[in-house]
Formats: sequence, structure tokens, C-alpha cells
Amino acid sequence: MFEYAPAPESRAIVDIKPSYGLFINGEFVDGNGTSFKTVNPATEEVLAEVAEASDVDVDEAVKAARRAYTRVWSRMSGAERAKYLYRIARIIQERGRELAVLESIDNGKPIKESRDVDVPIVAAHFFYYAGWADKLKYSGYGETPLGVAGQVIPWNFPLLMLAWKIAPALACGNTVVLKPAETTPLTALLFAEICQQADLPPGVVNIVTGAGDTGRSIVSHPDVDKVAFTGSTEVGKAIARAVAGSDKKVTLELGGKAANIVFDDAPLDQAVEGIVNGIFFNQGHVCCAGSRLLVQESVADEVMSRLKRRMATLRVGDPLDKNTDVGAINSAEQLAKIRELSAIGESEGAERWSAPCDLPANGYWFAPTVFTGVSQAHRIAREEIFGPVLSVLTFRTPSEAVEKANNTPFGLSAGVWTDKGSRILSMANRLRAGVVWANTFNKFDPTSPFGGYKESGYGREGGRHGLEAYLRNTEKGADA
Ligand code: NAP
Ligand code: MG
Repeated sequence: MFEYAPAPESRAIVDIKPSYGLFINGEFVDGNGTSFKTVNPATEEVLAEVAEASDVDVDEAVKAARRAYTRVWSRMSGAERAKYLYRIARIIQERGRELAVLESIDNGKPIKESRDVDVPIVAAHFFYYAGWADKLKYSGYGETPLGVAGQVIPWNFPLLMLAWKIAPALACGNTVVLKPAETTPLTALLFAEICQQADLPPGVVNIVTGAGDTGRSIVSHPDVDKVAFTGSTEVGKAIARAVAGSDKKVTLELGGKAANIVFDDAPLDQAVEGIVNGIFFNQGHVCCAGSRLLVQESVADEVMSRLKRRMATLRVGDPLDKNTDVGAINSAEQLAKIRELSAIGESEGAERWSAPCDLPANGYWFAPTVFTGVSQAHRIAREEIFGPVLSVLTFRTPSEAVEKANNTPFGLSAGVWTDKGSRILSMANRLRAGVVWANTFNKFDPTSPFGGYKESGYGREGGRHGLEAYLRNTEKGADA
């Protein structure tokens, strides 16, 4: 054995202020509401005091967005809008390390993920939609923006979800009012600074921090033309009810319970890497996480022993350490939820195995865990745990795999591991999931549409399809 030498990324690059206001009409303002604290989930250290936007503040933000829409942004040519988006994309790259470190501090995700996955894809998203801004007439969805978009996002990919929302909205000529999640507001506020740095016209992007009530206030504001939400299915349903009967356009990106299906002809070591990536990437706080492993019975024992061996090597701990594989659980509340569902798994009779690892004394942590002997009726097979917990089921035939995979109220993603291309195609056709990965998992690209079926929501983000959510389709034959 050797002593582990930590390799922490310096946090000197970030300048966290003691308190933050709201970003309305291009400026940081105090707001009329109270404030809340955001903490570092790896240490429980309070990072900053953040303004909680009241109804009055949300109204100010919507008014600013409306003014910017009618006077500036919707009148500007697509080519001009693109210049701003390209500028934002380049600043994100230039300030990439700062964004990555801040994301890891506020969210708890490992620096190797924020640095190598989140931030590069955020920049790529802005570059990609910048490219569309002057080519909307080829989109197939018309060229007319909707107006003011109200956008509410979760805490698992704070900056990435912001990019998925803001980049296409702006490219299409809309202005936005966005609320980041209560536990992860800091990178959205740094993004607001980037908007200032890019000289984005005031009011085009407004960031209002707060909790559920602020989100509700945005969604129900009468002058919001479009609602874009990513979060839980429960809140998604409440939003669908709140906007029913209005003429607001809505997209909902909700929860998931993806099947990751391993056939006996799959290259097993690669499949094990894919299983690990599928469920332990971002502590399993991933809507499309491969949280249900379906493994063919003939290789189940072999896969499980290789998986446990691999899980025992995962390094859990300081998110800023460059060697960390699994960081902190985002909040005490989420940790309690993961613990509760895991206890239910045990009481329902599934067998629990957790990777042996020393967890830090402070902060919110959960060791990578796998449940075997899971049956379809178990709650850990049906409900989204949203943590580093894998449920394992077995199957014998491809049809049984399809049936089990589709036996869920969700339909966001799935994975297939096999050597046969023909099997990949036939499985992809039969799986009711918005995204099907073959011999890989959790691959994201701005050119590729992402979204769900059933209780995973509706609408697509990314790619040409992602433009549809932000345009009024006035082309012949489309409903106006
Ligand atoms: P959540 O509780 O639904 O929260 C999402 C956002 O909505 C937060 O900003 C939240 O505010 C706000 N909110 C809460 N109640 C609201 C209301 N009544 N009206 C309007 N806004 C409201 O979800 P979460 O627990 O943060 O995030 C995890 C969920 O997101 C998981 O289910 C995951 O699968 C899903 N997700 C889906 C995708 C996808 O693309 N399909 C991507 C990522 C995550 P607070 O700040 O108070 O929480
Ligand atoms: Mg936080």
C-alpha cells in the first residue's frame, strides 16, 4: 500500500462574493425578497448569501425581458445575434477553469467532470446555436421567435442546463428569465457576469435566484410566452397544470429510470466501464442515468464480480481533487432521499453491496452501491433514486429485456451492450426511450436532440429539433 497524495485543483481562481443580488436588465440588483444560503456540499461551508426573488422581482425581470425583446433582440438580424452568442461561447472557453471550479464547489461534482464534460459542452452548445441564428429559415420550424421565455432548471448540471435553455432561446430571437436551482445558483450568476462582459443588450438574459416559489412565479407570469422546465416529474406535472388553458408553449424535461442492457456477447470489461459511467457519473444525479442494469443471465455472475471489483477502485471524496471519481451528494435533502430509498430496497429483500471506501467526516456522501436480486415490483426498480445506486435485474432473451426495459412510467434513455449491430438496431426500435446509446453511455453532443417519452416529459433539447421549442411555426400546414 502507498499513501495517497491528493491532487487538488486550486480554488484561487474563483472569487466568491459574500452576497449576490438578482441579474435584471443587465445589472445586479438587490431584490425585494429575503435571501438564502448556498453551501458547498463537500464541506457544508456556507459559500454565499443569495437573493430570493419575490413576485415583484420576477415581474421586473419579465418586464425587462419584454422590453429587450420588442426593442432590441427580436429586431436584430440573426447574424448580429450570432455575434453575441459566439462571444459568449468564447468567453466561456476563456473562463472555463473558473466556471469548472465554481461548479464543483457549489454542486459537489468532481472537477474532472465539470472541467472535461460540463464546461466544454456548455461552450459547444453556444457555438452550435450561434451557428443557427442566421439560418433559421432552413430549420423547418419558421423564423419567428415566441417572445419571453421563462426557464426553470435543476441542480444536477447547473451550467449545462442553463446552456441548453439559453442558447437556443437567444439564437431564435427570444429573451429569457431563468431561475437556477436553490442549491446551485453560483455558476448562473457568473454566467450573468459573462453576459455583461459580452455586452449583451440589457434584459436579453435575466437570472432570478430563489426556490420553488420563484419558479412558480415565473411559470405563472401572464407575460411569459414560453415555459421551459427541467426537473422532477412531480413539479413538471404541477407546471403542466398551471399553464393549462393559457397559450404558453411548454417543454418539460423530467425524470428517468433508464435500462442499461448487457447481452452475453458484449465485451464485458467495456460494458463494466459503461455501467460505472452510466450510474456513478455525477454521483448518479443524472436524469438519463443507467440506474437499472439488465444483464443476461448467462453472464450475470461474471458481470457482477467484475463490476464490484471496478467499483472498489472508485475514488470518492474531495470534488476538487483531480483524481476523484465520485463527488459529494448535492444536498442533505437529496442524501436523505437516497438513504430512504436504499433502506426500502433492503426491506423489500434486495441484496445491497456498497463499495468499501472512507467517506469524509463533513459534507454529504454516499458510497457507490449496487442492489442485486431486484425484482420489477421493487420500488428501487421503479422509482428514480437520483444517486449512486444501481439496481440489477436479469433477463434471458432479447424480448424479455425489451419488456423489462419498457416496464416503467419513464422513457428518457437506454443503453445496449452487444457485439451485434443488427441487435442494436432492433433493440433501439423496440425501446421506448428518447435516446438509446449502443456500447457507450451518457454521451452528449449539441447536435443531437435529447428528450423523453411518457413521464419523462415532452419536447426536445439540442440539435435542429431543439429550435422548435423557441419558434412560432408559421409555415404552411403547421399550427400557428
Ligand atoms: P425539482 O424539485 O423539480 O426542481 C427543479 C427546479 O424547479 C428547481 O429550480 C426548483 O426550485 C423549481 N421548482 C420547484 N417547485 C416548483 C414549482 N412548483 N414551480 C416551478 N418551479 C419549481 O427537481 P430537482 O430535484 O431539483 O432535480 C432533479 C430532477 O430533475 C430529477 O427528477 C431529474 O431526473 C430531473 N432532470 C431531468 C432532466 C432531463 O433533461 N429530462 C435533466 C436533469 C434533471 P428549487 O431551487 O427550490 O429546487
Ligand atoms: Mg450549493
